[in-house]
Amino acid sequence: MFFAEVIVRNSAIAALVYFLSMVLPERKEDPPGIYEKHVQEMYDYIVVGAGSAGSIVATRLSEDYENSVLLLEAGKSDLEPDDVTQIPSLWYSLIGSEKDWGYHSVPQKYSHFAYKNERSYIAQGKVLGGSSSINSINILRGSRNNYDQWKQEGAFGWGYDDVLPYFRKLENATETSYKDSCN
Ligand SMILES: Cc1cc2nc3c(=O)[nH]c(=O)nc-3n(C[C@H](O)[C@H](O)[C@H](O)COP(=O)(O)OP(=O)(O)OC[C@H]3O[C@@H](n4cnc5c(N)ncnc54)[C@H](O)[C@@H]3O)c2cc1C
Repeated sequence: MFFAEVIVRNSAIAALVYFLSMVLPERKEDPPGIYEKHVQEMYDYIVVGAGSAGSIVATRLSEDYENSVLLLEAGKSDLEPDDVTQIPSLWYSLIGSEKDWGYHSVPQKYSHFAYKNERSYIAQGKVLGGSSSINSINILRGSRNNYDQWKQEGAFGWGYDDVLPYFRKLENATETSYKDSCN
């Protein structure tokens, strides 16, 4: 009876693994030879930190083939074989891992009374992609009111209608009521 149960369970796991291998996209790997590439003596631009901001800045700069760009990252690649940053639902398992700088706040005087030493844990990504590689991928557009108020206060070009095209550029929403919404 016991062996029968084990066989049924293992067969179910094997079937699930097979199913997932068929439906999940192929796992990406670091391009061959990437770690053997030599660092040049000089670059036009050096970007420190391959997180959300640094990666975009480096990408945009390198769109001009005339530019040489070095993007430096303290953490490892997000494409290592044991890496789970590509699995969004496992983001929480990365907190406190080697892919998290693992900072703490200073002891707080007026808050955090339920915390040990009144200090807060501050997760920050230490891996290619930075915090975006360990985050939970929630996204929402900011409030129209905030952007319009900033514009009124002098942040020219930062009104909601100015930034809406960029929200749309980074989204791939298929739900039209959201995709075409002006809010
Ligand atoms: C756990 C967690 C969950 C989150 N969830 C969400 C979410 O669901 N939705 C959302 O919109 N936002 C979320 N965020 C916030 C979002 O991920 C960050 O605001 C954003 O990624 C910050 O981008 P950044 O470029 O400023 O910094 P980061 O993406 O953190 O990039 C900084 C990079 O610099 C590197 N670095 C630092 N020092 C050095 C050095 N001396 N030399 C070389 N490299 C260095 C770091 O290793 C890191 O890769 C979350 C953040 C965390 C930590």
